[in-house]
Amino acid sequence: MKQKVFLFSEGNKDMKTLLGGKGANLCEMTNLKLPIPQGFIISTEVCKEYLKKQKKLSNSLLNEINLNIRKLEELTGKTLGGNNPLILSIRSGAPISMPGMMDTILNLGLNDDVVEILSIKYTREFAFSIYSRFIEMFSNIVKQIPREKFTEIEHKLKHNKIAEKNKFYEILTEKYKSLYKKNFQEDFPQNPEEQLIQCILAIFNSWNNNRAKLYRKLNNIDDNMGTAVNIQEMVFGNLNNASATGVAFTRNPANGENKIFGEFLINAQGEDIVAGIRTPDEIKNMKNIFPKLYSEFINYATILENHYKDMQDIEFTIENEKLFILQTRNGKRSPYAAIKIATDMVKENLISKEQALLRINPKDITILLHGSFNKDSIEKAQILGKGLGGSAGIAVGKIVLRSEDVVDSDTILVRTETSPEDLNGMSIASGILTAKGGLTSHGAVVARSMGKCCVAGCPTLSINLERNEIFLGNNLLKEGDYISIDGYSGNIYLGKLKIDLSEEMKEFYEIIDWAKSIKKLSVRMNADTPEDCIRGLKYFAEGVGLCRTEHMFFKADRIEPVREMILANTSEERRNALNKIKPYQKDDFLQIFKIIKDKPINIRLLDPPLHEFLPNTPKELQKLSKSMKISLAQIKERLQKLEEHNPMLGHRGCRLAITYPEIYITQCEAIIESALEVLKENITVNLEIMIPLISSLEEFNFIKTIIETNLKEKYKEDLNKITYSLGTMIELPRACITANKIAQSAAFFSFGTNDLTQTTFGMSRDDSGKFIEEYKEHNILNKSPFETIDIDGVGYLMKLAINLARETNPNFKIGICGEQGGDPESIDYCHKLNLDYISCSGFKIPIAIIAAAQSQLKK
Ligand code: PEP
Ligand code: MG
Repeated sequence: MKQKVFLFSEGNKDMKTLLGGKGANLCEMTNLKLPIPQGFIISTEVCKEYLKKQKKLSNSLLNEINLNIRKLEELTGKTLGGNNPLILSIRSGAPISMPGMMDTILNLGLNDDVVEILSIKYTREFAFSIYSRFIEMFSNIVKQIPREKFTEIEHKLKHNKIAEKNKFYEILTEKYKSLYKKNFQEDFPQNPEEQLIQCILAIFNSWNNNRAKLYRKLNNIDDNMGTAVNIQEMVFGNLNNASATGVAFTRNPANGENKIFGEFLINAQGEDIVAGIRTPDEIKNMKNIFPKLYSEFINYATILENHYKDMQDIEFTIENEKLFILQTRNGKRSPYAAIKIATDMVKENLISKEQALLRINPKDITILLHGSFNKDSIEKAQILGKGLGGSAGIAVGKIVLRSEDVVDSDTILVRTETSPEDLNGMSIASGILTAKGGLTSHGAVVARSMGKCCVAGCPTLSINLERNEIFLGNNLLKEGDYISIDGYSGNIYLGKLKIDLSEEMKEFYEIIDWAKSIKKLSVRMNADTPEDCIRGLKYFAEGVGLCRTEHMFFKADRIEPVREMILANTSEERRNALNKIKPYQKDDFLQIFKIIKDKPINIRLLDPPLHEFLPNTPKELQKLSKSMKISLAQIKERLQKLEEHNPMLGHRGCRLAITYPEIYITQCEAIIESALEVLKENITVNLEIMIPLISSLEEFNFIKTIIETNLKEKYKEDLNKITYSLGTMIELPRACITANKIAQSAAFFSFGTNDLTQTTFGMSRDDSGKFIEEYKEHNILNKSPFETIDIDGVGYLMKLAINLARETNPNFKIGICGEQGGDPESIDYCHKLNLDYISCSGFKIPIAIIAAAQSQLKK
C-alpha cells in the first residue's frame, strides 16, 4: 500500500509535490536537527483523491492517521485529549506557495476537559483564550459561520464592564459555544480525533475556495496539484511575556540588502503578525529583549540560507524562552531584490551565474523598468504621509476604498488592512496603501509576489467607508482623488507625480550580460522611429526585427499625403501623393540608419488596414478636399468606394501593392537612397526589406519582380554597393502550408503572429478582447493566444513553415515579430523551434534576453 501520511522525519525538501512546500521543508529542517515542533503530513495525493470523488476518507487512511497520532504522542510525550494534552495546528501546504489563500486551524485538541487541565498547567485566562480561538476558527473554517459574528460577540463583551477582566475568555468561550449550538442544534464537538478529521476535510476543501482559485489563475498554478495537510504540535507565542512570535527574511525582500529583516510580537500568535492587526517590532530589537535567543535564531537563519542557497522567509515562535522554527520557504521578493540577491549570491559563491539567471522572473524586469518619480516633481509635491515601503515600485492612481470597486489600473486600493478577499482588487490596482500591518502583513507579501507597489502600515491614515473619504494626517481626501505612492520610501503624495525611467541598477546590467553570453536566440526590437531605436539599443537590441513603415505616418503633419495616396483615383494622383511622402520616409530612414549602423534592420513595406488612416471628421474631410483639389462630394464618393466589410481581411498588405505597385516602389527608393546616402559616412546598412501578408509564391514573385526591376533600372551599379535582401512576413496559414515554395524566392521569413493568430483562429485581433475573458473563465483557453503563442494551432503552423522552408534551404533565416515575441513562454517555444531571432518592443528586450537565456539553460 502506498504511504499517504508521513512523519516529519520521513520526508525531505525534494518531496514538495507530494508533501507540499511547507511539509517538505519541515521534514528537511527536522533532518537538519533544527528545533521543529514535530508532526506529520497528509499527502497531496489524498487531497486530489478526495476532491475528485468527494468521498469520505477511506478506512485505511483513517487508520494511517491514527497510527501517526500515536507516533506523535510518543515523540512528544503528550496525548490528544489526555492529561498531558497534545494541542495541534492544522495547516494547508500546496506544492507551490499560495500565501494566505487556504485555511489554517490552530489549537485543535481543546475541549471542556482539556481547557481545565491547561488552566492548571498555565493560567485560566490563557487556556480559555486559546480555546475560544479554536472554537472561532473551527466554526468559521469547518462550519462556515461568518467570522464577523464572533467579532461582534467579542466587541460587545469588551464593552461590557460587568464581565470581570480575568473571566473575559471564559465568558467568551461560553458565548462562542452557544453561537455554535444555536447554529447547529448540537454542542461543539468534544472528541479531538473527530475535530481533526473535520479540519482535514475543510483544508482539502479550501483548495477550491474562490481566492485560492483566483491566486492560481493569476500565478499560473496548476489547479490539479492539491494541497497537503500539516498536522503539527502547537507552540504558544502567546503564553506570557517570555513568549513571542515572528517572521524574518534572511535578506531584505524589498531591496535585497544582505541583512536580516523581519518583525516580532511579544505574547502573540503568528496570525497576529500576518493579519496586520498589531504593528510588530523590528527583529533587530529582539536582541535587547531575548539576546540569547536572538543569536540562536540568527544562527539557524544562516544555516537555512546556506542550506537552501536562497533567501529564506522563516516563521518562528518563542514559548517561554524556548525558540522553535515553524516554517521556512524561499522568500517572495520584489523584482529589484530578486536581481540584487541573485547577483550577490553569485559573488558570495553560493550559487552559479546560471542558477542566478534561472531565479529571475523575466516579467519582473518590466516592473523594474517602470521607473521612479521625477525628482523635480517630488520636490514640488505635497507629502500626505509616510508608511512602510512594503513592495518596491511606484504607483499613481485614484483612491478606491473597496476591492470590488477597482475596475482599472488607474487606481490605488486604500484599505485599513488587506485580506485575501482583496486579491482581485489588488491584482488590478496599480498600487496598494494600508493603514495597518507591517512589512510581512498580507498586503505587503501579496503585493511583492505580484510585483506591485505597496505602502503598508501608514499610521496617520484613517478611512471612513460610510463617507467614502480618508484622512491622511489632517488632509481630507475623497474616493476618486489622485495620489502617488512610493513603495521604496513609503511616501504618499497628493496628486499625480511625473514618472522618470528607472535609475540604472548595476546588478541589472550584470544579469543581462550573463544572459547575453548564454542565449542562442538573437533579440531584436520592433522600432518605427529614431526614438524607438535609441531606446531599444539602450536595452541591448541586436537590430531591428520590424520597422512598420505605416507607423511613420501617424504623425499629424504626415497623415495628409497618406490619405491623398489612399484616395487617389489615378496613377498620377498617387505618384503626386507618394512624392510628398518620400521625403518623410527618407528623413526617418536616414536618422534610423545612423542610429542602427551595421546591425540588421528589417523594414516592412506598407501594411495599413486602410480604415486606420481614413479621415472621419468634417474638418479632416474639408482639409483633404482642399489639398486634393476635389470636391467634398467626390471625397465622400471615393471613401464610400473604399469602405470594406472586413478591413483586416481586406485590401491591405501586399494586396495594396498588387493594385498600386508604385507604393512599394517609392518606399524601396526611399530606403535605397537613404542607404546610399549614409554609405558616404561609411555606414553600411544591413537591410532586410519585408513584404507583408503574402499567401503564395506567385504573389511574392509578382511584387519582387516589380521592385527589383525598378531598383536595378534606377540605381544601376550603385545598387551593388548596398547589402539588401527581400523577404516576407509569414502571417497567413496558407503561407505556412506553402512555405517550401515561398522560401525558393524569399530571402527570409518573419512570423507575424498577430495576424497568424487572427487568421488561424478566425478571431479578430481587434475584437477578441470582448470575449476572450470568457474563454479563459470557462478554461477553453488558458491564455489569450494574442499574448502567448497557441502552441497546438498557431505553433503547429509555425513549425510546419520552418520545416518546409529549411527543407528548401537548411540555413533559411527565420524570426518572429508579432506581440508574442516579448512573452517568455512564447520565446521558449521560439527557442525550441530554432528560430534565428525574436523581435519585440524596446521595453521588453531585457525580458526577452533573460527568457532566451533561460530557455538555453533549461535545454
Ligand atoms: C503581425 O501580424 O504579427 C505583425 C507583426 O504585423 P502587424 O501587427 O503590423 O499586422
Ligand atoms: Mg501583420
